[in-house]
Amino acid sequence: MPREYPIERTRDIGIIAHIDAGKTTVTERVLFYTGVSHKIGEVHEGEAVMDWMEQERERGITITAAATTCFWTPSYLPEEEKTEESEYRINIIDTPGHIDFTVEVQRSLRVLDGGVVIFDGVAGVEPQSETVWRQADKYQVPRICFINKLDRMGASFEGSLQSIRERLSPQAVALTIPVGLESDFSGVIELLGMRYLTFEGEHGENLVENDIPSSHLAEAQKWREELAEKIAEQDDELAERFLEGKEISSEELRHTLRKATIAGRLIPVFCGSALKNKGVQILLDGVVDFLPSPLDLPPVKGHDPKAGEEQTREAKDAAPFSALAFKLQSDPYVGQLTYFRVYSGTLPAGSYLLNTTSGERERIGRILRMHANHREDVKEVYAGDIAAAIGLKNTKTGDTLSDEAHPIRLEKIEFPEPVVSLRIEPKTKQDQERMGLALRRLSEEDPTFRIKSDEETLETIISGMGELHLEILVDRMKREFKVEANVGRPQVAYKETIRTAAEAEGKYIRQSGGRGQYGHVWLRVEPRERGLGFEFKNAIRGGVVPQEFVPAVEKGVKEALDKGVVAGYLLIDLKATLYDGSYHEVDSSEIAFKIAASIALQEAVRRAKPVLLEPVMKVEVITPDKFLGDVTGDLNSKRARIESIMDRLNLKIIDAKVPLSEMFGYVTTLRSLTEGRASFTMEFDHYEEAPANIAELIKEGKK
Ligand code: GDP
Repeated sequence: MPREYPIERTRDIGIIAHIDAGKTTVTERVLFYTGVSHKIGEVHEGEAVMDWMEQERERGITITAAATTCFWTPSYLPEEEKTEESEYRINIIDTPGHIDFTVEVQRSLRVLDGGVVIFDGVAGVEPQSETVWRQADKYQVPRICFINKLDRMGASFEGSLQSIRERLSPQAVALTIPVGLESDFSGVIELLGMRYLTFEGEHGENLVENDIPSSHLAEAQKWREELAEKIAEQDDELAERFLEGKEISSEELRHTLRKATIAGRLIPVFCGSALKNKGVQILLDGVVDFLPSPLDLPPVKGHDPKAGEEQTREAKDAAPFSALAFKLQSDPYVGQLTYFRVYSGTLPAGSYLLNTTSGERERIGRILRMHANHREDVKEVYAGDIAAAIGLKNTKTGDTLSDEAHPIRLEKIEFPEPVVSLRIEPKTKQDQERMGLALRRLSEEDPTFRIKSDEETLETIISGMGELHLEILVDRMKREFKVEANVGRPQVAYKETIRTAAEAEGKYIRQSGGRGQYGHVWLRVEPRERGLGFEFKNAIRGGVVPQEFVPAVEKGVKEALDKGVVAGYLLIDLKATLYDGSYHEVDSSEIAFKIAASIALQEAVRRAKPVLLEPVMKVEVITPDKFLGDVTGDLNSKRARIESIMDRLNLKIIDAKVPLSEMFGYVTTLRSLTEGRASFTMEFDHYEEAPANIAELIKEGKK
């Protein structure tokens, strides 16, 4: 079966914005206009999309699919050229509005090829937009901007563009300018084509091309000149012609701007008002004109899961299949949906593939493509596609799905270690059953969310990336799975380790009547470098501990690691060697050796100068100049190590390492220190020995 859309006419994009800039409204409009204009397919979906939009709005929720597919034909093409051959398929990957969930942001940025960044035309660049922007920088995501809300009181296109240039990138160039502002905002001038566009009809669906009003002609010419100059700078030949005052066609400009945008050297900026139905179609033209197709990007990288050498896969249908699962979603109709992005090859529904992350063979049952108002069963997916699979049993977020004969493991989405935990206790017996299921589901969806049960207290401990992260997961458990639970205070996930080597004996001997118990071992523990984890070594000679009991010893050691001796936290980064012991012909058993090993390990650790480790976070604060002193003063009081302070225009960027326990409630602190003008990001960096006075507080349960 041939593919419907060539890969050159595919766009995998995300709409990126912080809360309130208008992401939802823009997305709704995009889905509406694309539904109206879509030519392929048997149904005319315009009405349906609108109905659906209204229903969704009534229920107060919006687009819920992790990826939605829509279609667009550039609006500037003459009617006769708007055919199937000029239509593009756009897959919109949902990106979170909240930057606190590193994992959500990372997994979406990892699978999209280009981004549309939305700004509020009154506020311009807000601190949170900067954070989002820098995340996209990190993943080298080519992007275009949309200055939204130009109908609002106080809106300023020039001011907003200026703030983008100052705070985010001097390479931002205007592609459209508004005619009128606030309540007079009537349409946009598209500068490459020098067209004045208005948006008529009830929902702005009729795009009308008008003469540029004479009052705006000079201004539009000035902006176009600037745009042409910026683009021409990107290409020697064009630059020469520009300097000589020769004509450069719109097509040439568009072509060069496309290349420069994909390379991240220029950022096209569009404008409008999603709420008032203005400008969104021109933004869509921008998506197809300037954002990359999967072919425009370098081949995806990975490793042979066995041999380990690096491999790449080109975005070609004929290449071996490779895909990344980027989101799990429970669906009321079909159960679990696994969203995946195909990097190479083709995959028919019903076929088998290899999950190279888990090593399990999987069968893809059905494959669905999610549209705004319906879902489509597809028979086959191709390089560059984004779709949802039904039937995958052992695939988690971040796993690679691969051709069985040509296995590859794609570069992992790096998930940080959970550093905050809390105890959670179901309210009733019924809640208890539901809670188990809910937690399992949620942890499959989100690899940074972990569950553990405390064997002594029978309590469940959940851990995640931060206070807010856990709060939201607990809330989802209540809303989606109807589990009522008592929730403890968030606590830092401390760890323990040792500082020197030591040895100890463990005996478990019971010999009073009947069959007794006999386990006896000597263990040596030694510290390992931070991050190397645990290692067990069997150095028994002459069978003083018979081989059959060695696995039980290892098990006993591992169980004892779970509960450190300083304050009961997990012991990490040490090596345990079993080097001596004895046994009894009749009374020795696995259980006796397991218990003896636990006793020996605990004692050895006690003798090996055990210490508490605390998670230290990499924190970046961006603050206006004038609050620098207050922010650094506060950080210093939090045991922070400030590593650098850099200038970005009138902002300071502070890089610091701060123990997590000091960072609870920092959102509020920072807000009050800086009148809400600063922002910060925080991610786990490493574990480090807690200073003695802090260790005391931890032991007493005060930290
Ligand atoms: P999100 O949080 O980024 O998804 O933003 P929403 O799309 O929910 O928009 C936030 C608020 O801004 C809502 O009240 C919208 O109605 C409003 N809004 C969105 N776009 C515009 C616009 O173009 N003009 C005006 N005046 N309001 C808008």
